[in-house]
Amino acid sequence: MHEITDITIIGGGPTGLFASFYAGMRGATARIVDTLPQLGGQLTALYPEKYIFDVAGFPKVLAKDLVRDLAEQAAQFNFPSFLGQHVIGLEEEDGHFVLVTETDRFPTRSVLIAAGIGAFSPRRLPQKCAEEWYGRGMDVFLNRWFARYDEARDALTADGGYLLPFRHHFFLCTAEAIRTLGLDPDDPDWLRIRFDGARPADSDAWQRLRNQRLTAIRRSAPPRPDPLRLPYQYDIVKIPLKPGDEP
Ligand SMILES: Cc1cc2nc3c(=O)[nH]c(=O)nc-3n(C[C@H](O)[C@H](O)[C@H](O)COP(=O)(O)OP(=O)(O)OC[C@H]3O[C@@H](n4cnc5c(N)ncnc54)[C@H](O)[C@@H]3O)c2cc1C
Repeated sequence: MHEITDITIIGGGPTGLFASFYAGMRGATARIVDTLPQLGGQLTALYPEKYIFDVAGFPKVLAKDLVRDLAEQAAQFNFPSFLGQHVIGLEEEDGHFVLVTETDRFPTRSVLIAAGIGAFSPRRLPQKCAEEWYGRGMDVFLNRWFARYDEARDALTADGGYLLPFRHHFFLCTAEAIRTLGLDPDDPDWLRIRFDGARPADSDAWQRLRNQRLTAIRRSAPPRPDPLRLPYQYDIVKIPLKPGDEP
């Protein structure tokens, strides 16, 4: 059993990290508990190489650099982080809480939930030979983000997949992600553009793929409400203005 703290924070994403720092600023004791093996939440797990443009005080900052600085800011109070621990319950014991993970119990006076979109787990490669690598630092997610085209291109050459542009960034994704976008990953136009939508080798083929994507977006858009066919029923009620008026 661990020592009791003032606050136990579920989640070591940016919210949890800043909460940990602020707890220290206010003279409280705190700890972070997170399912993932590293701090940073979505920023570390999903898009470490992507620039973020909407953090106050930073015209642009790489996600991994923001996490590094948040962790450094929080570290000045020397609060421990318990990583690789999935919270499964909360109990009450002797007038305080006990946060329960699959392997541990953390007594605490209060709990702060900074769990973001919830616990997420890496998407794994289907190949059997990849199995033995999991749990040793190798995690595979659907999309890999890149701030620079050259890095994305190198990754495409090394690992295969589909390279797509997104605003100022690039991402590499699997056939499954392409299907999710409403496109056919086996369409021969992918080969014509060399699987690179950022600098397509064949602009006509790329335009055809983009048109398919636009069709998919239109198909999935919710229908616009027709003002003449209101989806609800209503009654017209006449309100008598003075006694004796017929309603
Ligand atoms: C591809 C992508 C790009 C994005 N780009 C931007 C951007 O440019 N600008 C922007 O403002 N936002 C962006 N976002 C959104 C941003 O990442 C989130 O808003 C942010 O991560 C939320 O931070 P958080 O700390 O609240 O939660 P999270 O980052 O989700 O962290 C929550 C943590 O809680 C942990 N957790 C959850 N449940 C449990 C449990 N039961 N036990 C233990 N641990 C648990 C998780 O493992 C996780 O580490 C982007 C998101 C994605 C996916």
